[in-house]
Amino acid sequence: MIPFDIHSPVEPLDFQLFNDKSLTVHIKRDDKIHPFISGNKWRKLKYILQSAQRVGKTHLVTFGGAWSNHLLAIACAGATFGFKTTGFVRGEPVSNPTLSLCKIYGMELRFVNRASYRDKPLLYAQYAAHVPTAYFVDEGGYSTEGAAGCAEIIDELPRPYDHIFCACGTGTTIAGLLHGCTEQGLGTQLHGVTVLAGGDFIPAAVHALYPEMPLEHLTSHTGYHFGGYAKTTPTLTAFIKQFTSQTGILIEPVYTGKLLYSLFDLAEHNHFNPGSSILVVHTGGLTGIMGLHEQFA
Ligand SMILES: *Cc1c(COP(=O)(O)O)cnc(C)c1O
Repeated sequence: MIPFDIHSPVEPLDFQLFNDKSLTVHIKRDDKIHPFISGNKWRKLKYILQSAQRVGKTHLVTFGGAWSNHLLAIACAGATFGFKTTGFVRGEPVSNPTLSLCKIYGMELRFVNRASYRDKPLLYAQYAAHVPTAYFVDEGGYSTEGAAGCAEIIDELPRPYDHIFCACGTGTTIAGLLHGCTEQGLGTQLHGVTVLAGGDFIPAAVHALYPEMPLEHLTSHTGYHFGGYAKTTPTLTAFIKQFTSQTGILIEPVYTGKLLYSLFDLAEHNHFNPGSSILVVHTGGLTGIMGLHEQFA
């Protein structure tokens, strides 16, 4: 069995703002799990890889953009646990540090134009027709197996929290967190901060993974995308510099920068009752900073 023993620390976040508003804030350091199979990507892979192994498949085939944390996580996990890996990359052939790392970990990269990329099941079927060991892993690890791995974050917590925050791309992680809280009968309010423009797609994404699960403890925040996926602004980069230089906790503009920004903004605007306890999940993905490093020059 694949050794997936994870237990990331929970650390306090001490800021004057939180004191002033009588808030207790902690951060779950899933960024410490692994440098490249980082954070929620590692969580998601636990049951995905076990399923592949159970059906005797040894070749992971997956999808992502040119700066995808998910592609890198699959490449690295594949090398670590003995799977071949193939990544379909959206768009024209390019080279960048993320894709070079994927190649170093042994991933075969296949660039596909945006029109073809839209039909992932077809791309997969064509590939798998010649590769009987192939196993489909959806973009971003979106699946109930992926969410089940993320739900285990809740099992690791030393205490219950009134609010839990996480950044959302596909919604897999927040779905798992909500599932974990529901299973344990916790009344925690889950806050998903969407990092893409395009409205409130998170409840539907969560519902598709867990059709039975009530969603009244789910809030999605759609106003913190800073222009869309992988977009940033001087306000966001200044916030990231300030947060990281003050805490020693690195965050990046694609996911965790927007996440932490939302928390500070909501606290500033008295969104939380005094006395509330809040947990922020640091979902890792720090290599994302490489694609936007010039914003910090
Ligand atoms: C992929 C990723 C997310 C998005 O997670 P979803 O489960 O797809 O919503 C959040 N944070 C980081 C750092 C990521 O790499």
